[in-house]
This record gives sequence, structure tokens and C-alpha cells, in this order.
Amino acid sequence: MTADPIDILRTTFGFSGFRGVQQQVVDRVLAGQHTLAVMPTGAGKSLTYQLPAVAMPGTCIVISPLIALMHDQLRAAEAVGIRAATLTSVDDNRAGTIARFRNGELDLLYVAPERASSGYFRDMLGQARLALFAIDEAHCVSEWGHDFRPDYRLLRPLLDSFPNVPRLALTATADAHTRADILEQLGIAPDGLIVAGFDRPNIRYAISPRDNVTRQLQALLDEQPGPGIVYAPTRNAVERLAEKLGDGGRPVRAYHAGLPPQVRAQNQADFVASEDMVMVATVAFGMGIDKPDVRFVAHAGIPKSIEGYYQETGRAGRDGDPAVAHLFWGADDFARARQRIHEVEPARQSGERARLTALGALVETAGCRRAILLRHFGEHPPERCGNCDNCLTPPKAVDASVTAQKYLSAVFRTGQMFGTGYVESVLVGKSSERSLTNGHENLSVWGIVEGEEEALLKPVSRALLLRDALRTNPHGGLEFGPAARAILKGEAEVALVLPPKRQRRGRGANKA
Ligand code: ADP
Ligand code: ZN
Repeated sequence: MTADPIDILRTTFGFSGFRGVQQQVVDRVLAGQHTLAVMPTGAGKSLTYQLPAVAMPGTCIVISPLIALMHDQLRAAEAVGIRAATLTSVDDNRAGTIARFRNGELDLLYVAPERASSGYFRDMLGQARLALFAIDEAHCVSEWGHDFRPDYRLLRPLLDSFPNVPRLALTATADAHTRADILEQLGIAPDGLIVAGFDRPNIRYAISPRDNVTRQLQALLDEQPGPGIVYAPTRNAVERLAEKLGDGGRPVRAYHAGLPPQVRAQNQADFVASEDMVMVATVAFGMGIDKPDVRFVAHAGIPKSIEGYYQETGRAGRDGDPAVAHLFWGADDFARARQRIHEVEPARQSGERARLTALGALVETAGCRRAILLRHFGEHPPERCGNCDNCLTPPKAVDASVTAQKYLSAVFRTGQMFGTGYVESVLVGKSSERSLTNGHENLSVWGIVEGEEEALLKPVSRALLLRDALRTNPHGGLEFGPAARAILKGEAEVALVLPPKRQRRGRGANKA
């Protein structure tokens, strides 16, 4: 006798109804169908396997990549009275857990993926009744995903040895390509895919080029009360920014993997309890933190991918009240990310490159940010959302192809060895000892940019670096990248999005 899912939802979990696609997912699982559920963070993925685990006879095996998260989930499950255990290398009472499993006394058993390859584990699973396999963070199975873990590839043989046990794969982050790959890798039919709506309408997205990031962040802090997170790319950057922003009057804490565990835990606890604190952190911060009233998430540099951006910004406004996500980017972020792609294994490079290109399009667009995000997740959003920077203050788009050609010519004529500052001084004809000694004042590109066009040079150099038309060598010199030729030959346009002139706002400017 299987109890009614709605009853279990109310009595065990204390919820009045399902949210979004939860019911669809639960119904499929209870019907024994393999399923891949793509649901954004906070949409309630855990319930979709916990409820069937309670409703169905037998144990639900949950495969989860991080032991730390497993223990959080275990505590949460036990808190509502679910019989659950973890079986990992750090648990001492493994024999006890195995005995409970054999006796059918567990609704949930959390394990790490590497256990799946052990023959002993497989035999053990054969000794009691299984309700379902829940595969959390299922994108880890795909080389296309942003977080491939070879251990996840070991799951398939295990799953296949229990063909009648339903599989539920769960992920918050998967583009179309990765989804198809997860289905294939885990042996789930394409009609088993369920995708939840990804829109977070209360988050206002804004993306700006970085000039003075401390000042830009301080302006955001002055304007935006309530708790907030500032993501910075490195531990050093975290330390530096935390110190500088600390002078602005708001309580500020830092969080990165280099801090002692007690300090990290204390800072996190302070943040969770606070109503106005700013946490400056690397991406190590945020996983598994349940703080619904985060009012802003800022990025001091580009995230790893659109998925990463969505996940990190998604920590803002979980309570549904208005929140802000502001990304500050520099062309050097893209140049560095491109450099790093050479260091990953060849098989993963094209995926990494595609992710970077998608992120570049989000950053560069004159159109709606939300539309680009949602399209990335396979949705068909309206052209304009009315709640992002580009919808609220449409930027001016200008054709800067000619200026871009002049820029590339100057890089070429000066020998592809000078940095942006020097190249720009040649273009505007600003004489110096260097330009004299180099004989560059006789070049055809000397002083060919004047008047209003000068203002385009910085954004043009950013656009050229972003598109890989220009690259920086290790000494900061500019050289041609693969996209340079088409632009020089007039085959590719360079349209620039110029942010509207920033008005000095009275509000916040003289706030203490
Ligand atoms: P995810 O794993 O998708 O990020 P969780 O499973 O951690 O999300 O759930 C996020 C929050 O939503 C939790 O606090 C959970 O208790 C709550 N929640 C889940 N389902 C429901 C529901 N049907 N009604 C109300 N709250 C829910
Ligand atoms: Zn918009």
C-alpha cells in the first residue's frame, strides 16, 4: 500500500502543496519511470526523491558528490523524521548503517559516486529492496558539463545491474548539450526530461565594464541595503576588496578556502545572522547556504560560465523580494580565461570555449540579459523583461568597425608587441620619447583617431580582446588572435554597446 503523495507532503514535510514541476517529477518516479529533472537551485529538488523514498517500499540510494553536502542533507532529512544514513569514508559506524540497510530500516542512503564501482557495494545493494536511485548533481556525469567528475561514469554499470529500479537524475545547471549527454550517459529516455522554469523575475540583472571596481562596488553598496555577496576571482582579490569595502561603513567579512575553518564557519554564521552584512568571497562560498534575504550578488570579475553566473546570482532574492545582480567585467578576464583553456585536457577544450563564448554574448549584448539567460536554459522568453539594465536604460549601439580596423592596423604596424596604452597613444598621435625612438610617428596610423572617436578606443580594445581578435602576450603586448583578419578585411562588424552616460545620483551619494 503506497500512501497518497499529497498526504506525505503535508504530514512528513509540512508543505501545503507541490511547487513548480515537483509533482510531475514525483509522479514519474512513483510510476517507476527514469527521469532527468533540471530544476534551478532553490526549486526543491530534494523533495522529489525524499518523498518517493518515504512513499515507496525499499531504500532510495542517493548519489551525491560532496560529503559535506551529504551531511547537511542527512540532518535535514532526519529533522523531518526520514530514516536516513550516509555511507562514506568519514563515517565510523559503517557496519551499523549496512545492517540497517539490510533490515530495510532506511528510507535514504547517501553515498559518494566512487563507491558505485565497488563490487562489494553492488552485492550489498542486491541484499535488500531498492526504491530508487537518485543521482544528485547529475551534470557531473557529462564532459560537456562544467564540473565533470570521472567517478560519475562508474554509475552506469551499477544502475544497469538493477534495471527495474527507477533512476532520478537531478541538476540545476545544464544547457541543452549537457542535458542530452546526461540522458545518454545514465540511460534515461529523452521523454524522461523535465525542465523547470528558470526565470527569477525579482532579480534585476546588470552588467558593466570594470573601471575602478572598488568605487563601482562601493556605489552599489551605498545604493543597496540588506545582506549581499561580492564574488571575487582569487583569494588575494577577496582579501583586498574586503579590506577596502570595510572602510565604507557596512560590516564586511571575507570567505575563501585559504582561511582557517573556524574563521570561515564564523564568518558564514555572522553573515547568515546579519541583516546588512557584505560577504566578499570566492565561489567556495554559497553552496548549501539557506539565506533567503540576500539583496544583492555582485561579481568583481567574470564567472566561469553562464551556469555559474545563474547559480551564483540565484543566491539573491530567494524570498521573492526585489534583489540585484551586478557583474563587473574586464577584457582581461576573458583573455585570462582563454589562456586557461589551453591548460585543460584537449577533449574538454571545445566545451570550455563554447561556454566562454556564451558568456561573452551575455556580457556584450545590447539586448535583454534575462532573455539571453533563459534562452541558454532552453526557454523561449519574451524579447524584453523590463527588469535588467538594458531593458531599463537601453544602451546606445554604435558601429565601431572602422575604429576597430584602425586599432588592429596600429597593433600590426607597431609590430604586435605594445600594450593598449601605447597603441592608443600612436592612434591619437601623442608624441613621446618612445614613439620618437621607435620611429612610429611616421606610420600611416599615427594620429588617425581624433575627436569623438577617441572615446571609442577603450571599448574597442575591450571588444577586440573579448572576441579573440586581439590577445595579450605574457608581457602585456597585444597581438592578433584568430578573429582579427575578418574584422580587418571588413567581413565582420564590431558593434559596440555604449553604456548610457552615468548620471550622478543624488540618492546614496552623500549617505554616511
Ligand atoms: P534545491 O536542492 O533544488 O536547491 P532544496 O531541495 O534545498 O532545493 O529546497 C529549497 C527550499 O525549498 C528548502 O528550504 C525546502 O524546504 C523548500 N521547499 C521544497 N519544496 C517545497 C514545497 N513544496 N513547498 C514549500 N517549500 C518547499
Ligand atoms: Zn531585460
